[in-house]
Amino acid sequence: MTVVDAGPLTLAKAKLVAFAEGGVSVPTTVAIFEHPQHGVVLWDTGCNDAVADPDRAESYWGRGIKDAFGAHGFTRDHAIDRQLDRLGIQPNDVRYVIYSHLHLDHAGGMSYFPNALHVMQKDELRYALFPDAWTRPVYCQNDFKDIHKLNVLEIDGDLDLFGDGTFRLIKSPGHAPGMQVLLVTLAHRGRFMLGGDIAHQRDQFEALIPMPWDWSCAAMTSSRLKIKQLERSGIPLYLCHEPGEFAALPINGSHWD
Ligand SMILES: [Zn+2]
Repeated sequence: MTVVDAGPLTLAKAKLVAFAEGGVSVPTTVAIFEHPQHGVVLWDTGCNDAVADPDRAESYWGRGIKDAFGAHGFTRDHAIDRQLDRLGIQPNDVRYVIYSHLHLDHAGGMSYFPNALHVMQKDELRYALFPDAWTRPVYCQNDFKDIHKLNVLEIDGDLDLFGDGTFRLIKSPGHAPGMQVLLVTLAHRGRFMLGGDIAHQRDQFEALIPMPWDWSCAAMTSSRLKIKQLERSGIPLYLCHEPGEFAALPINGSHWD
């Protein structure tokens, strides 16, 4: 596994952690795996390249959204297609794309992978295509423009994706209706969890503080308590947007296996 930052964001911390003070610069973690039998597997896809283009960002994400999420540091080279190219992987090589959820910093690369099986929670897919008005800004409908042409695997609940324990999906609703956490088992590294947006920052996770856009604080709390118990049991958790945790992962071509 290697990870890349496919969506650097600089914004008021209060946009990620309710009532927090100050500002933060955060990565958006995308993980790339090569499964010995099942080929290249992606965990999330970051932001779409249109967001890096001053002429297209507003029409793609919607008015004011790029400013609101502080995506000005996101360049064309951050988009996952270019990052994979640097690692020698072509879009058609990608066999599986697993989504923690379908917010615009996670599903932006969906249309880059026409040959992949796109794995997501059923609740997330249904909600993303017709979100409540107050969550509409974070579900970019342009990200889903090819969804009816793609091969989508909708799952409802937990799944051991290949039946071999390597990729276990744990449904963890709250931040979004179909959020899921990925519990990975690698031959040498052992087990760890990629948390998606189970929380955006570590202090928020520990103190059970919501994010202003959380779909359900009640569901979010239950899901965090569940993932905390796995962490307490000795399975490390890496939050997608926590800079220190991103830095602890193997970045840009260095590997865990
Ligand atoms: Zn996110």
